[in-house]
Amino acid sequence: MNPLLNLVILGSTGSVGTSTLDVVARHPGRFHVVGLTAQQRVDVLFEQCRRFRPRVAVLPTEPRAAELRRLLAAEGLVTEVRVGPEALCELAAASEVDAVMAAIVGAAGLRPCMAAARAGKRLLLANKEALVVGGGLFMQAVAAGGATLLPIDSEHSAIFQCLPEDRSTWARRIDHIVLTASGGPFRQRDPATLHEVTPAMAVAHPNWVMGQKISVDSATMMNKALEVIEARWLFDLAPERIKVVIHPQSIIHSMVVCRDGSVLAQLGTPDMKVPIAYGLSFPERIESGAPRLDFEQLQSLSFEPPDPRRFPGLQLAWDALRAPAGTTAVLNAANEEAVAAFLAGTIGFGAIHSVNARTLDRLPPRLGPSHTLDDLLELDGRARDVARQVMRELAA
Ligand code: NAD
Ligand code: MG
Repeated sequence: MNPLLNLVILGSTGSVGTSTLDVVARHPGRFHVVGLTAQQRVDVLFEQCRRFRPRVAVLPTEPRAAELRRLLAAEGLVTEVRVGPEALCELAAASEVDAVMAAIVGAAGLRPCMAAARAGKRLLLANKEALVVGGGLFMQAVAAGGATLLPIDSEHSAIFQCLPEDRSTWARRIDHIVLTASGGPFRQRDPATLHEVTPAMAVAHPNWVMGQKISVDSATMMNKALEVIEARWLFDLAPERIKVVIHPQSIIHSMVVCRDGSVLAQLGTPDMKVPIAYGLSFPERIESGAPRLDFEQLQSLSFEPPDPRRFPGLQLAWDALRAPAGTTAVLNAANEEAVAAFLAGTIGFGAIHSVNARTLDRLPPRLGPSHTLDDLLELDGRARDVARQVMRELAA
């Protein structure tokens, strides 16, 4: 019998958050949901509280918290509703918590991730932006806190599943890794027509159902750029040991090329419940609820190199990793601002890359060797200001 795992889900109302609760619900008695958090969608959070009975729920503002308290009281539910970013950190580090699913989108998830890492939790990381911003500091917090960092991003879970549990063998074993990318909805679209792309077209991913931000990132391939940076830290690899190939079917989730030329791959249907279940049960395996791969129905698996003219943002990952510390935080902040503006209809699809590249040019970070989390978050804020200035200039 496995001990009960006390679990917090940060961002429980999102795509990864709801898939996590799907997996949890399949295993009564194995997981106890201690805390759930959301930014909006109080009604969804309320339904989750009704079903999973967490001790704590967190929302960003008092009015939303009051709304949830009212709904809970009407049902006689005792979940305590807390407010604001500090409450997220306290929940992620609470002593009764064994595991934290980090499923917030964006740099907003960095502080609670760091709190969970410092408190030595089992940290299930979907929130790639937190690691892209936190970089070496994030990994130091994991080591210092004795946390177990488990990748949830499907590519990184695939790599992790292809490697032995003993991390000390990884450096000797790996020649390089290959992250697969679907190429998103515009892989075959004439690049000259990309300026006509609307937010609705950009979020319609051919293979995966995901939140809006990551869907736009998949269309620009900035998602893969963020994943290259994420892989650099998760697997302690030099940037040149990380490669990307387009694999439109999204069946091979990524590959490890070993020193002897042997290639290890992890395959499955494109369903986040597989990496989520692995993170929840590692080193065991539990039912995920994902549909099975049917090799008799499977047609060809194909591969192609990413076209740098169509996806100019991808190269920024290696450039930023080779630039001074903090550059990946600037790239992430610019991209978050640009994607939000694109989704709001204020900039075009093609402008996302211009905003990212120009912000990087204008804000070379000057962080000291012993920079802190506050330094990184201050840099994140300045990069957002620069990105917004760039967007005003583009609009003029
Ligand atoms: P989503 O937009 O569907 O959900 C985000 C969740 O975070 C929601 O619960 C939202 O309320 C909460 N949230 C948003 N902004 C917040 C803020 N400022 N403070 C606190 N909470 C906030 O996003 P998603 O698609 O589930 O992605 C979550 C993370 O997982 C992202 O970093 C994404 O890159 C990563 N990821 C997602 C998928 C996927 O299939 N969706 C796959 C791999 C990795
Ligand atoms: Mg991914």
